[in-house]
Amino acid sequence: MTKIKYLLDESAMPTAWYNIAADLPTPAPAVLHPGTGQPIGPADLAPLFPMALIMQEVSTERSIEIPEEVQQIYRQWRPTPLYRARRLEQALDTPAKIYYKYEGASPAGSHKPNTAVAQAYYNKQEGVKRLVTETGAGQWGSSLAFAGALFGLEVLVYMVRVSYHQKPYRRALMEVYGARVVASPSEETASGRAVLAAHPDSTGSLGIAISEAVEVAVQREDTKYALGSVLSHVLLHQTVIGIESIAQLEQAGDYPDVVIGSAGGGSNFAGIAFPFIGAKLRGERNVRVVAVEPAACPSMTKGKYAYDFGDTAHLTPLTKMYTLGNSFVPSGIHAGGLRYHGMAPMVSHLLDLGQIEPIAVQQLETFAAGMQFARSEGIIPAPESNHAVAGAIREALRCKEEGVSQTILFNLSGHGHFDMQAYTDYQAGKLKDFEYSDEEVAAALADLPKVG
Ligand SMILES: *Cc1c(COP(=O)(O)O)cnc(C)c1O
Repeated sequence: MTKIKYLLDESAMPTAWYNIAADLPTPAPAVLHPGTGQPIGPADLAPLFPMALIMQEVSTERSIEIPEEVQQIYRQWRPTPLYRARRLEQALDTPAKIYYKYEGASPAGSHKPNTAVAQAYYNKQEGVKRLVTETGAGQWGSSLAFAGALFGLEVLVYMVRVSYHQKPYRRALMEVYGARVVASPSEETASGRAVLAAHPDSTGSLGIAISEAVEVAVQREDTKYALGSVLSHVLLHQTVIGIESIAQLEQAGDYPDVVIGSAGGGSNFAGIAFPFIGAKLRGERNVRVVAVEPAACPSMTKGKYAYDFGDTAHLTPLTKMYTLGNSFVPSGIHAGGLRYHGMAPMVSHLLDLGQIEPIAVQQLETFAAGMQFARSEGIIPAPESNHAVAGAIREALRCKEEGVSQTILFNLSGHGHFDMQAYTDYQAGKLKDFEYSDEEVAAALADLPKVG
């Protein structure tokens, strides 16, 4: 009987995050001030974030220590298990070995508490009383609400309106943790009111919700903003996923040929992939790295590598990233999350350097993959995670076709227990594939800010 689950002793949990900035052949492009077009400094970000996080954002230290209090909280569910997906391998009749790292083991059910807990900790340290944020499907909002409850911080969440109505139980979860949840666009902010004046029926977008949260955060001294993806400090906190995976695979006597993650803003993908990319950049081990995005929000495969705003109202700094344009509003048909218009600047930079292979997958393929995974492995993946499952299945079938036995590792970023309506809709034949047309891409990209 082969052991199929690799657990690390909790004493083996990482005590430091891995910062890929230390191993880059060229630094990522500067972040620019939206008014002056000049590179911003730490002070420019101080109204939004605590200084400790700003310093992590710009750090080039390879290893950043995880505070003891954060480690203690992580230990409740970390190290997360690494499984060998033997029954999925059998179902696919593939010679490949498939491993998955299960981040759904956290209290909120996804990888997002890895950064939510760290962010809440640093805000608390610097005397912040209230955190404001946006959430799409509700995974980030519930993770920050959970972290806020642990540290006694008030949490206010602007939730994309379409999800607010489609995912009432995610909203309930946030409220159980003590957060206040507002459907976005809302009447509570100038940016929300502006959107509603132009589009009274707006279903919202992450870009709009970010504008609302940022607007509220800068109005009060005791309030800061928190972002669940995209920024380099968020990606940094997620690297515990990849660091643990390396140790667990070592325990299994293995190393991946290919590492796969789903990519919305890029944080769970970076979490599993960066420690492996780092080893490659340092010339230690080779690996292929695949980022899977939805065909309905294809920032890496159809977007442009350009300076853009993080939000619709143009309140955020300008970052160079693969983007569909900040005015992008994803199709309401698309059930699978991963709806942000841009890709994390650090992931974008590595893509530009040729270190990442991006692919776009249609939603029917992702749900078919999730169903097959659930029926062989038992865990029901979040719709976002289904993108990684689909990517892993494609790689396993490629191995079968080529008759090669490779090792595949993917990140199962969360469980789908709050997403069962999407599975019901899929089984009822109500979900459709959706291609974002070249004309629509061109229209949204026409609004990109002009940067020298
Ligand atoms: C939020 C989320 C994602 C997408 O966000 P990234 O920052 O790209 O990781 C993927 N999977 C799950 C389960 C999520 O909650």
